[in-house]
Amino acid sequence: MSLIDTHAHIHDKAFDADRDAAVGRMRSAGVETAITVGCDLADTQRAFTIARDYDLYASAGIHPHEAKDAPADIRAAFEPFLKNERIVAIGETGLDYYYDNSPRDVQQRVLREQIAIARDANLPLIFHHRDAFEDFVSILRTEWRDGMRGVVHCFTGDTAQAKTYVDEFGLYLGIGGIVTFKTAQPIRDAVIATGIDRLLLETDCPYLAPIPHRGERNEPAYVAVTAQYVADLLKLPVDDVASLTIKNAKTLFKIK
Ligand SMILES: [Zn+2]
Repeated sequence: MSLIDTHAHIHDKAFDADRDAAVGRMRSAGVETAITVGCDLADTQRAFTIARDYDLYASAGIHPHEAKDAPADIRAAFEPFLKNERIVAIGETGLDYYYDNSPRDVQQRVLREQIAIARDANLPLIFHHRDAFEDFVSILRTEWRDGMRGVVHCFTGDTAQAKTYVDEFGLYLGIGGIVTFKTAQPIRDAVIATGIDRLLLETDCPYLAPIPHRGERNEPAYVAVTAQYVADLLKLPVDDVASLTIKNAKTLFKIK
């Protein structure tokens, strides 16, 4: 069985003490590679360094939490990342009205600009959103064009939201450890309604470890735990879940 962790933060300082071992466990678990996701400019720089050192992929992004510190010219700041051979996506970017760590109008501007950068660079987007569905979708409706690609990472919506993402924008849903939590029945219903063709597996490590690791530091190897959980949920062999979600990831991120 072979898997990809499509959303990880392996460059995070949570892995500074044992990154070699964590990446070793990842590969032993059959997780061949991962996308290590940038959350601001300095963080993105670290992501690209770690992606080079560990033969991973990286994305360049400014998270809504960090939007308040975004440069005036995001496009110019992203220029070196766009030229890097490890880049597979723009993000994570989006709206987070739960924490509201950045003013909402600033979050919206920074999101719009990253969508425009992805559009011009023909790269997919990795979206983060929380408690902002209406504004998020209305921005997509003005900025989205045919042929654009993306994933709503750490999907925590319901079936109706999943349907909007998939039917209207052709987005994928990133499924991580939260799907295993007791309270996640709406997410499980949405996963069943959506079906395997639009799902990606991810960890979002070091956060949100799946049961039975909940509360521990999450790591890329645990994407195998979520794969098994989704297989049981969809009543599919885990090998099929692995091969089909890998196919989805390769289509979305254009990786070999
Ligand atoms: Zn993340």
